Amino acid sequence: TGSKPVGAGILNDSIAIDRLKESLKLQKAAFRRNSNPSQMERTAHLRALVAMMAANRNKIRDALVQDFSAHPTEFSDLIEVAGVMGRAETAINRLPVWMAPDRREAEPMFGTPTAFMQYQPKGVIANVVPWNLPFELGCGPLAEMLAAGNRVILKPSEYTPACADVLEEMIAATFDRDHVTVSKGGLDLAKALPSLPWDHILYTGSTVVGRQIMAAAAENLVPLTLELGGKCPTIMTSTGLSSRNIQSVLGMKLAKNGQICVSVDHVLVHREQMEAFVSALQEYYRTNLNNHSQSPDCTGIITQRQLDRLVGLLDEANISGERVIHLEDSGIDRDRRIMPLTLIVDPKPGLSLMNEEIFGPILPIIPYDSIEDAIELINQRDRPLCINIYSQNPEEIDAVLERTISGGVTVNGAALNGVCPSLGFGGIGASGMGRHHGIEGFREFSNNRAVYFRSEQDNLASIFPPFGEATRDL
Ligand code: NAD
Repeated sequence: TGSKPVGAGILNDSIAIDRLKESLKLQKAAFRRNSNPSQMERTAHLRALVAMMAANRNKIRDALVQDFSAHPTEFSDLIEVAGVMGRAETAINRLPVWMAPDRREAEPMFGTPTAFMQYQPKGVIANVVPWNLPFELGCGPLAEMLAAGNRVILKPSEYTPACADVLEEMIAATFDRDHVTVSKGGLDLAKALPSLPWDHILYTGSTVVGRQIMAAAAENLVPLTLELGGKCPTIMTSTGLSSRNIQSVLGMKLAKNGQICVSVDHVLVHREQMEAFVSALQEYYRTNLNNHSQSPDCTGIITQRQLDRLVGLLDEANISGERVIHLEDSGIDRDRRIMPLTLIVDPKPGLSLMNEEIFGPILPIIPYDSIEDAIELINQRDRPLCINIYSQNPEEIDAVLERTISGGVTVNGAALNGVCPSLGFGGIGASGMGRHHGIEGFREFSNNRAVYFRSEQDNLASIFPPFGEATRDL
């Protein structure tokens, strides 16, 4: 179960489970007392979230270094702190529009009624967080959950104990326990959580566990948002090869050393350009990222077990006689769990790295012959969270937009749809269901209630018995 003892530094699980149940009870009772916080109250909650992130920036940096062994300050500030603050600011600015009743057309045959959608809080939401982005995924969704007027219990991963401590401490200092709280624990707590009577669960993590969460949540018919994993493909077309695009592919792959759900899992490259692409990657790396893994910009692999899994993928490729290109001379630093990026060119389809989410610094490069071919390679697999395409050819871009299905698409970039505050974020099929971020998140965490206002003057006689001429004329 990894290099860290699971549950290290956290409460014994049966105590943790009791505390979780107690927190849920407290929050449910508090929600019954105030089930529809005003816009002013919600804005205050969101401002508190912004201030909390700003005030804890240094602690967040340190905790990430502790859990990952190495973690760049800039990435921590940008994604785990500023990203959350930006999301909360968007919610503050958009709140009046998001909360307003959404007028819909009413059926004129019934007279002159009014119809609208009312977005009301759901109640108490569980946010089950993975290890890879403990603050971005722990606190980011709070923006829309609090904007929608909910109460939240956040459960960090057992693999990020230092981050869990900071989350617990800063949330306890900012919010009342019956409003937002953190529930720390090991696997037993994680397993107990989804069968409790939540009003909604947001789960971010692997597809395998996503299935278990859904089965357990079925017991209480708890609505779910599942943010899952998978293999996000990147298509490098013949018009896409440029130095800027090489920087973009490598930049995204190296972000958190590949341990991001929308990381570039593999690149599909036009066969005629494959050698040019491989050389361009090597050249760019040599010139701009020399010894990157030894630099402060590199993130460590979360656990020894994850490192072993990644080394296993490379061993399998070597045994199979694949073309393996190490971009750095320095090998793997097992103690610090530092692993440099490796390219695998045109690997055989049966290899594990072609069939499981890589989630680390290994980049398979797969040739295709036509855009139809590339689309077919994508469509043979589970629907991805994100597809990237680099192209200057509108027909190729349209073909990908029209003939593939995924949670999101970025054209001429990698995973930028995931950081655009106005776009909802989520997967489809094996990569998840439901959306958060922006208005989609607000609506996801709201009860979308249909309200029909009949004018007392409206005559509904024609739809009630005794039926007669008037009904037949409808
Ligand atoms: P993880 O091991 O931290 O697990 C995620 C959460 O699930 C943790 O809180 C953990 O305690 C809990 N958990 C684990 N086993 C459980 C069980 N049997 N029952 C209930 N809860 C359980 O993280 P992970 O799953 O290794 O995360 C990596 C995966 O997450 C990757 O597949 C990645 O693509 C995916 N991911 C998806 C997104 C997204 O937005 N779609 C974002 C980040 C990560």
